[in-house]
Amino acid sequence: MKILVINAGSSSLKYQLIDMTNETVLAKGLCDRIGIDNSFIKQTRGSEDAVEIKKVLKNHKDAIEAVISALVDEKIGVIKNMSEISAVGHRVVHGGEKFNSSAVIDETVMEAIRECIDIAPLHNPPNIIGIEACQAIMPNVPMVAVFDTTFHSSMPEEAYIYALPYEMYEKYKIRRYGFHGTSHKFVAERAAELLGKPLNELKIITCHLGNGSSICAVNKGKSVDTSMGFTPLQGVAMGTRSGTIDPEVVTFLMEKEDLTIKGVSNLLNKKSGVLGVSGVSSDFRDVQVASKEGNKRAKLALDIFCYDCKKYIGAYIAIMNGVDAIVFTAGVGENDFNIRERIANDLDFFGIKIDEEKNKIRGQEIDISAEDAKVRTLVIPTNEELAIAREVLRMLK
Ligand code: AMP
Repeated sequence: MKILVINAGSSSLKYQLIDMTNETVLAKGLCDRIGIDNSFIKQTRGSEDAVEIKKVLKNHKDAIEAVISALVDEKIGVIKNMSEISAVGHRVVHGGEKFNSSAVIDETVMEAIRECIDIAPLHNPPNIIGIEACQAIMPNVPMVAVFDTTFHSSMPEEAYIYALPYEMYEKYKIRRYGFHGTSHKFVAERAAELLGKPLNELKIITCHLGNGSSICAVNKGKSVDTSMGFTPLQGVAMGTRSGTIDPEVVTFLMEKEDLTIKGVSNLLNKKSGVLGVSGVSSDFRDVQVASKEGNKRAKLALDIFCYDCKKYIGAYIAIMNGVDAIVFTAGVGENDFNIRERIANDLDFFGIKIDEEKNKIRGQEIDISAEDAKVRTLVIPTNEELAIAREVLRMLK
């Protein structure tokens, strides 16, 4: 069974075609600059080099058509025709309170996803456009929506209700939702396999650290708290996002800098975080280089990031009354051993200790714990596309 996984953004669309008989990626690719000039599609087949084709992609429907053409192309394709695609899995960022599981897409599900636009105006519209474009081109292929928020639907009320007037929750559904759920679930399940113990007997803290970062407390396989909130802005400082700040800073800034609602949202989402503090870049590689060259603000940005992550780890050990494993994943978590070392150091009070030599790897699955550590520290590359494809299979069964 071949499953196409679609992750549609506002001007880009990532895809993977996965053969679920052996979970191999037949092809993966990206349509970029959709609706802008110089749009293109880039596809990689197996371990071959990527092939980039310039193509006018006026909208997401053009992009999906380009994906299908690339997949069935005589030279760079991997299937003979579209009928080989058994199902499509769509990443949908926000499922609100409506979805505590993935959903086979029908008109009722689409309506519920549309209703979530109000609380996810930046994220859900491109996901919806991606689904509609696929439906137009593959009307008879079953499609499944897999939500970033679903895994966190198990959080207890005290973790997800904000201490605002309760009517604000009732009226607008303002609460913590949490994101990166597909990734947190995937690496927690893999951690249990690596530890050789049932997931429902483990307390795990998963650290998804990338451009966007979130940390999750996974108790007995269920998310019981996570650092992101109503939107992906809350939590640790990120590439360009501020993470948690005193909410009064928002009104103060609006007044002092004469900012509109959009202006202040842009400042917090796009100009803050590691970029805002360092003034160098949102990419941790650039900030690491600048820090090593003596740039004090670059060092400070990394210090803040590691400090924030450490604080969440401590908090989640407290709420779970212990921890069996810490997992690092995503771009920074998988690759940046300096960041991992700084977060995991000086946590030996909790039995967390890493082996400096074992830690010096990038992008590999490995147990980096010191021999005498009570808590295992693991690096597990995430694979959200495979996790989505597995969900599609589960839902269709
Ligand atoms: P993600 O959002 O998971 O794709 O992560 C992207 C981020 O991972 C980039 O912005 C980089 O900061 C970081 N990253 C990727 N590779 C490395 C690396 N080799 N060393 C340090 N950071 C990396």
